[in-house]
Amino acid sequence: MRQNRPIQSAVKGRRLLQREPIDATSWAYMKMLREGSKTKRVYDVDPYAEVYRFRENMYGLLIESADGMGDVWMFLIIGPEKAMLIDTGFGIGNLKGLVDEITGGLPLIVTNTHCHFDHAYGNCQFDRCYCHELEVEAMNRKQDSHIWDYLFDEQGNGIWMEFDREDIVPFKMYEVVGVPDGYTFDLGEGYEVELIWVPGHSAGHAMYLDKRNRNLIAGDGIISMRVGMSGGSPFTTVTAYRRELVKLSQRVHEFDHIFPGHFVVDLETSVVSSLIEACDAIIANPEDYDDCEERMGREMLLKFVKGLGTIGYNRSNV
Ligand SMILES: [Zn+2]
Repeated sequence: MRQNRPIQSAVKGRRLLQREPIDATSWAYMKMLREGSKTKRVYDVDPYAEVYRFRENMYGLLIESADGMGDVWMFLIIGPEKAMLIDTGFGIGNLKGLVDEITGGLPLIVTNTHCHFDHAYGNCQFDRCYCHELEVEAMNRKQDSHIWDYLFDEQGNGIWMEFDREDIVPFKMYEVVGVPDGYTFDLGEGYEVELIWVPGHSAGHAMYLDKRNRNLIAGDGIISMRVGMSGGSPFTTVTAYRRELVKLSQRVHEFDHIFPGHFVVDLETSVVSSLIEACDAIIANPEDYDDCEERMGREMLLKFVKGLGTIGYNRSNV
């Protein structure tokens, strides 16, 4: 396990183990941002999140990963009448209180990019969460008070992060609302945010286009380190991912910057065509990979993406 000198952290909870090695560029970017950003703030109401103001009305909420993977971005957009929270993290800390404090208690729409631990386990603090219709079933399967058990060893200590178990939000059921590709949310006075379906990392993985700020909130569909294809369905393949990326590439005139769910944010839109090129190369010859690593007992093949990172896949999910 490679150990970097830790990035100076302002959040509660102490990282014990980083099980995913982080590439040098993403690491350096996060170090510069977290140790040097003038907009960074931690609120008393939720000491687990660092809050960055990226635009006049758009915030990035960064939490450290509780399961040893990459640290996670959530995004908060404040519209004229409503606010929108995209992703809810691990459910450690009072995210709802934090969001209410930043927005001044505006009505809130909660959405998810996908159902994974690090993006949706905070959903149960809210009454209703929106996602793409293909993600609903997986989202509902995770409505369970035991979803956090894997974070602890037999003695009840955190495996990857040391933190107070009482800081996990109390579990309650919530309503999952699935919407189709292209569904548009209105934050008031015509402020639109559109859900754009880009599967691959998960079947119903969604991105969100903030039309007024011309930002694309990309979740785990675009990441400066690695975009992983999860496999196991016709929608979690390189081919399915490529198909929707091509549609996205025809809309790059609608946004200027991309905000991924991990690591480097404010990416240029040129990475969309670089991702398509890498998908094309994988589909043309899956054996022509650039690197290969073992992940959770499975081999992951890696294809370099110009100016970004890699796409992770295996022979069964091309
Ligand atoms: Zn993620």
